[in-house]
Amino acid sequence: MNFEYSEKNIELQQRLIAFFEEHILPVEEEVNTFLYNPDNRWKPWPGMEDLKAKAKAAGLWNLFLPKSYGNLSPGLTNLEYAPLAEIMGRILWSSEIFNCSAPDTGNMEVLAKYGSPEHQKQWLAPLMNGEIRSAFLMTEPQVASSDATNIETSIVKDGDEYVINGTKWWSSGGMNPDCKIAIVMGKTDPDASRHQQQSMVLVPMDTPGLKIIRPLSVFGFYDSPEGHAEIVLDNVRVPKENLILGEGKGFEIAQGRLGPGRIHHCMRLIGMAQRSLELMSKRAAERIAFGKTFKDYSSIRQEIAQSQCEIEQARLLTLSAADRMDKLGNKASKDLIAMIKIVAPNMALKVIDRAMQIHGGKGVGPDTPLAHFFVAARMLRLADGPDEVHMYQLGKSVIKKYSE
Ligand SMILES: Cc1cc2nc3c(=O)[nH]c(=O)nc-3n(C[C@H](O)[C@H](O)[C@H](O)COP(=O)(O)OP(=O)(O)OC[C@H]3O[C@@H](n4cnc5c(N)ncnc54)[C@H](O)[C@@H]3O)c2cc1C
Repeated sequence: MNFEYSEKNIELQQRLIAFFEEHILPVEEEVNTFLYNPDNRWKPWPGMEDLKAKAKAAGLWNLFLPKSYGNLSPGLTNLEYAPLAEIMGRILWSSEIFNCSAPDTGNMEVLAKYGSPEHQKQWLAPLMNGEIRSAFLMTEPQVASSDATNIETSIVKDGDEYVINGTKWWSSGGMNPDCKIAIVMGKTDPDASRHQQQSMVLVPMDTPGLKIIRPLSVFGFYDSPEGHAEIVLDNVRVPKENLILGEGKGFEIAQGRLGPGRIHHCMRLIGMAQRSLELMSKRAAERIAFGKTFKDYSSIRQEIAQSQCEIEQARLLTLSAADRMDKLGNKASKDLIAMIKIVAPNMALKVIDRAMQIHGGKGVGPDTPLAHFFVAARMLRLADGPDEVHMYQLGKSVIKKYSE
């Protein structure tokens, strides 16, 4: 295992940091004020498109896709992408500027890997260009969706069309006015074997019968303009060509989609934790109570030291998982991906919590990114698989390894 970055990668990191310093940090407060204003809900910050054009021109575009796609992505490995995603994790809304935000990244990977040439032309190309956004509709309110085989939405063939009926929720990105396409998971054959029942189908958001019921807030945060939607699919009809890969392939696609998506979340979580550590260190060096600067209290030094240890542990575990994915593929890396998906959100929650505590009242208010970081890290103990589900599978794998 060699975690030395190549010259090309160091240069990319430097360019990304320079882009942040020149274009993103100066507008951070303005963008936050805009996005947290309820009057602006579901509207993008007006300067976003300009920043995206600048990032594209700078070659900082589609950095996540581990395979070159024309001149629209540099084709970085997971290991090369990790430090870049960490930098983006420092500001929650910044990934979109580089066309590297979830759920679009996972959806683009699905279309690049499993989509037909027609799907790629119609949907992947505008997504890769950042012209439209997308959603991934798997989770359903009425069933325990952490077990994907429970998904009940029906996808029934009717002549040259599929007819889709079901209710989805927590469809991230679904509230965005630029969200034009959804990948919907459902059952084409409820009588097939457990992992062959599901399929995935492309549903344009303006298809008759697709109704957005409501946006869901996370601890009061709406994550505008993307949002998380509850959506009803009521006799939604799409051409049979909208099916991805084939009937019964939904589970296989879901597994393929979630590996890279999970590690990207972890990379960004490390960025959130790292920024929290920097903020708490700064605060500790400035603030005085009971005649002493915070930095001179042993308990505060311990909190900071502990945070530094935990961030570095998680960072190395993430790099280890990324390295294995590059060398052996996603399937052979599933245990390491599960490990980091368990470790990173919990690590970030601890570090962010300490940073909030050291900031006092300021830490839970609107003047630092900490409160929103905390919410983002907390929801990542659920999204892309709850901790327990990863432990359930990782535990099974470890027991098998040492008992056979
Ligand atoms: C902010 C946010 C964004 C999301 N974005 C998307 C999205 O874009 N698209 C999408 O399809 N979904 C999305 N999700 C949904 C998310 O992936 C699911 O919430 C998650 O998979 C859990 O499914 P569930 O909510 O049905 O919980 P359930 O399946 O009902 O599980 C509830 C709890 O049961 C426990 N549990 C489950 N299995 C086990 C086990 N084997 N052992 C021990 N305990 C267990 C766990 O504690 C788990 O948290 C998002 C969720 C959130 C909160």
